[in-house]
Amino acid sequence: MHTITLIPGDGIGPEITRAVQDIFAAAQVPVQWEEQNAGQTTYDQSGELIPQALLESLERNCVALKGPITTPVGKGFRSINVTLRQKYDLYQNLRPAKTTEGVPTRYSGVDIVLFRENTEGLYSGLEVYDEPRGIADSFNRISVEGSRKICRAAFAYAAKHGRKKVTLAHKANILKMAGKLMLDAALEASREFPQIQFEDKIIDNMCMQLVTKPEQFDVIVTTNLFGDILSDLCAGLVGGLGVVAGANIGDNMAIFEAVHGSAPDIAGKGIANPTALLRSALLMLEHLGEKEYAARIETALNETLRHKEQCTGDLGGPATTQQFAQNVINNLR
Ligand code: NAD
Repeated sequence: MHTITLIPGDGIGPEITRAVQDIFAAAQVPVQWEEQNAGQTTYDQSGELIPQALLESLERNCVALKGPITTPVGKGFRSINVTLRQKYDLYQNLRPAKTTEGVPTRYSGVDIVLFRENTEGLYSGLEVYDEPRGIADSFNRISVEGSRKICRAAFAYAAKHGRKKVTLAHKANILKMAGKLMLDAALEASREFPQIQFEDKIIDNMCMQLVTKPEQFDVIVTTNLFGDILSDLCAGLVGGLGVVAGANIGDNMAIFEAVHGSAPDIAGKGIANPTALLRSALLMLEHLGEKEYAARIETALNETLRHKEQCTGDLGGPATTQQFAQNVINNLR
């Protein structure tokens, strides 16, 4: 039995979390949930954004499933996601994007796994505002160690999962220092995994290639900012943010999360699509070594997605969140 810290989050978070819990219960997955919330709702109730009890639960269980959290733009508190990633050195952001039958998209045959460096770069939180001069500086901090860790993780994943190629997306032609560190780290990792083909592409060309011929890519590794953008681009190739999984992984802790936001426009209506959080929960099961449970639920999910009449409104179907969950349960074999 695995104990998982469960962070329902804000907006649609509690609705999609409940759907995942129901599916796991029906499939008799050997997990027990330790619910500890964070975010806007928690703040409104208790005055704390990230309660100490949540941190203790994370440190005890080392694995969490997290719903989306509302983050105010340009003011207020620092992103809880960024805070947790940095506090626990969750340096890998893993984002698989694969075409699924039944999910509307312009492309076919996409099967990409993106590794985004998750703690450095422009999201290091190193910003200064010189008010009298009206100038804001945001530092793009890249370290040799951080670059080595993320590049090695991408190659190790490729080797473990029978993938053939790793592509580094970078801007080393302009960022002569920070960009070059990543390029050097990727070359170093590629020497350690000679069976994996390696190529590097400049980020602007990478975007063009991704939208014209995405099936040429296999595993992609990149820095924090480029990875943030590319991972949503890749989600768009396979049906959007409502259907892709995400994970933040460190050497000692992993937090699996839906990559979409708290969707305030549909919160409380019971119509959100739980697929993204469910797929993140399946990544979590693989991480825990529970591959058979993950495969069984994935088959049922894919069967559900093949039938529009079993899907939620964002996929053109009539189902509510709970009906969608029930459809997945009915499709369990
Ligand atoms: P969003 O992802 O919440 O919503 C964008 C659009 O997609 C909306 O129309 C929404 O209804 C729809 N949508 C999103 N998830 C859906 C789902 N599961 N099923 C059906 N439709 C879905 O993005 P936003 O509006 O830019 O952000 C809202 C809030 O979420 C902001 O406070 C933002 O900071 C936060 N956010 C949190 C995370 C996170 O916690 N990981 C990620 C992104 C945004």
